[in-house]
Formats: sequence, structure tokens, C-alpha cells
Amino acid sequence: MRFIETWIPATLVTTRDLAPGIREFLIRPDQLDVTAYPVGSHINVSVTIDGQPETRSYSLVGEASPHGFRIAVRRTDDSRGGSRYMWSLQPGARLDITQPASLLAVDWTRQNYCLIAGGIGITPILGAAQALARRGSDVMLHYAVRSRREAAYLDELAAMLGDRLVVHASDGGRRLDLDALFASLPQATLALFCGPMRLLDAARHAWIGAGHALPDLRYETFGSSGTLPTEAFRVRLKDSNIELEIPRERSMLDVLNACGHDVMFDCKRGECGLCVIDVVEVDGEIDHRDVFFSDHQKHSNQKICACVSRARGTITVDTLLRADAV
Ligand SMILES: Cc1cc2nc3c(=O)[nH]c(=O)nc-3n(C[C@H](O)[C@H](O)[C@H](O)COP(=O)(O)OP(=O)(O)OC[C@H]3O[C@@H](n4cnc5c(N)ncnc54)[C@H](O)[C@@H]3O)c2cc1C
Repeated sequence: MRFIETWIPATLVTTRDLAPGIREFLIRPDQLDVTAYPVGSHINVSVTIDGQPETRSYSLVGEASPHGFRIAVRRTDDSRGGSRYMWSLQPGARLDITQPASLLAVDWTRQNYCLIAGGIGITPILGAAQALARRGSDVMLHYAVRSRREAAYLDELAAMLGDRLVVHASDGGRRLDLDALFASLPQATLALFCGPMRLLDAARHAWIGAGHALPDLRYETFGSSGTLPTEAFRVRLKDSNIELEIPRERSMLDVLNACGHDVMFDCKRGECGLCVIDVVEVDGEIDHRDVFFSDHQKHSNQKICACVSRARGTITVDTLLRADAV
């Protein structure tokens, strides 16, 4: 699997604050191709972090529009700085972005659709809601947020879906009960999910528990913040005296490759599995942040996705690099 990227120049046209910590950006490519892109598509944006170029992905909000690409960025303060960079941009700023690409396959032939968004995960889901509402499909959107004031696009969604929009605001005591929700859905319902890793794990368990086929739960991840705090950890290399520190702002993949270990990679989102390496010993705890391994594989701790997963303490890995074979 190879993610092909075509970079194009663009201009930031306008920004709009949608909710505390969520800002919308309208970006117009110099040569805007107004043909529709698949629902759930995202673009990559070239950002600058500590003076270095990096890439961050953002889902396109809504269906294709002649005005340009709409994205919404949540400012993440405990982070390496990609979202802060986006928030520093002013209208008129020049940007390099990629053409839209989709990781979320929607089957439009189903009778019933259940959309689930957690927080900023509403961005790819809004376009799906728009397309399904326009088709007159049987669709419900469950939008889980901490509070209604933190929810982006509520008015737009309410106008689109009416009472088929259900907002689950945890501060209002209305938590999303995934077991009850999925148990109530007819078989062959297609569920589209985007939200944080914990909610995705809960959704996968509830989905299987309710007897639905796992491929009918389609999801998008935004790269995970994991279940443990992001902190430095140590990686010992099997059969060597080498021990590396992985600082909190760098991935294990980047540190290994900077030290000449040639770990292959592709998506850098914990989806493709190309950067998987063997774990020999764990002195601490692994925080699997990928969506590549099954729950069983994660529990067995025999392998780790070096691009996104982290640890607490020290782990010993075998990168299969042998000094005598180089
Ligand atoms: C397909 C796709 C679509 C996306 N769409 C959106 C969108 O619509 N809106 C949006 O706001 N975001 C979206 N994202 C996420 C976005 O690309 C960025 O990850 C986000 O803006 C945070 O970037 P950052 O540099 O500020 O934070 P990061 O440094 O990437 O940190 C993000 C989280 O990871 C943890 N973290 C910090 N350091 C590390 C590290 N070294 N290794 C691993 N984890 C670490 C942090 O604790 C934090 O919680 C999308 C991502 C993908 C892959």
C-alpha cells in the first residue's frame, strides 16, 4: 500500500471560530478542481514546527464546493505544534496542500446508516450526513461532545438532519450508550465513526457485542493520543548495548531511523503496519496507538507500530538489523 500525494499551492481565504478551540479554515487551491471528492476525504497541509517542515492531515468538511476546501482544526496544546501553526495563520497566507484523498469507504446502497462523531471527529462525518440527507437515506447522527458549547457545526447539522441529530453532551448527563445504540440497529446498518481512540475501542466492542459484522463499522482515526500520557521512554535494541531515549516530541520510528536502523514506513498513522517491529521484553507498559493490530495482538505485546505507539519505561525490540549483515 502506498499513499500517493500530489502537492499543490493554495491560499487561506478566511478563518472562522466555531467553538472554543475549534477554528474553520477555507482554503482555495490556485487551480481548484470542483469535481466532487469522496465523502470523508482529507488533505495534507505542510506546516512548520520548530522551523522544520512537517505534514498534518485535515478532513474536508462537507461536500465539494466551488469556494474551496473547508477544514476545521482543533487546537491541541499538549502537542508538537502542528495545530498551533495552523492557528497562527492569517487570511492570505500561502500554503502547500495535497489533493483530497479518502480513507473512509462509504457503501451508498444500504437501507440504514448510523453516523457517530466524537468531538472534532465531526469533520469527516458532516459530509456523509449531508450526502445521506440529500439522498433521503435513513440516517441518524450521534454526536458525542463534552458540552454543547464545545460542539462545532450544531446549527448546520440541525438544519440538515432535524431530529435525526442526537447530541450526547457528557456535562448534561447524556452520555452515548453504544451498547444500547448498536443493539437497536437493524442488521446490515452501515456505521461510520470518527472520534478518539477510546471511543473507537468502545465502539468496536459494542458493535461486535451487538452481533454486527465488523466490516460494517467503518472508521477514520486522526492519529491517537493513546491511553497513557505522552512522555519520554527508552528503547533497548536486542543483542546490543544500545539504548535509545525517545523524547516526548519524537516518535520511535523517527529516532530509530535517525540512528540508521532503516525501519520501513508508509502512512505514519498506525494504519498500514509497515513499520511494525518485534518486541522482545517490556519493562513498563506499551501504549498501542495504532488501528492496525487486533485487541488480541495488542494484549500479547509481541509487536509494536513504531510510527505512533509509545511506552512507559523501557522496551526491548528487535529491528532485525544485524551489524554483520550490513
Ligand atoms: C486522516 C486525518 C484527518 C484528520 N482530520 C483532522 C481534523 O479534521 N481536525 C483536526 O483538528 N485534526 C485532524 N487530524 C489530526 C491532525 O492531523 C493533527 O494530528 C492535529 O492537528 C494535531 O497536530 P499537532 O501537531 O498539534 O499535535 P501532535 O503533536 O500530533 O499531538 C496530537 C496528540 O498526540 C500526542 N503526541 C504528542 N507527541 C507525540 C509523539 N511524539 N508521538 C505520538 N503522539 C504524540 C499528544 O499528546 C496529542 O494528544 C486528522 C488526522 C488524520 C490522520
